[in-house]
Amino acid sequence: MKTSDTQYVYVSLDSYECNGCGTCAELCPAVFRMDDTGDKAELIDGCVPLIPELEQAATMCPVKCIELEAC
Ligand code: SF4
Repeated sequence: MKTSDTQYVYVSLDSYECNGCGTCAELCPAVFRMDDTGDKAELIDGCVPLIPELEQAATMCPVKCIELEAC
């Protein structure tokens, strides 16, 4: 349930750019996981609470292919 003090974001990931480093899945497993091949990250959910780990994952992505947008 959404509350007024929680910010929610829609997460998008450019899997073409993703280099499969695994940083996002390691930092924020609530949102990211590696696909079956382990070569690309994929999203577990699209519109999620903006937790610090999520922000950190987007910041730390070496190819900057994670985008967060208010939803
Ligand atoms: S941190 Fe970026 S490049 Fe690394 S697996 Fe996640 S989306 Fe891909």
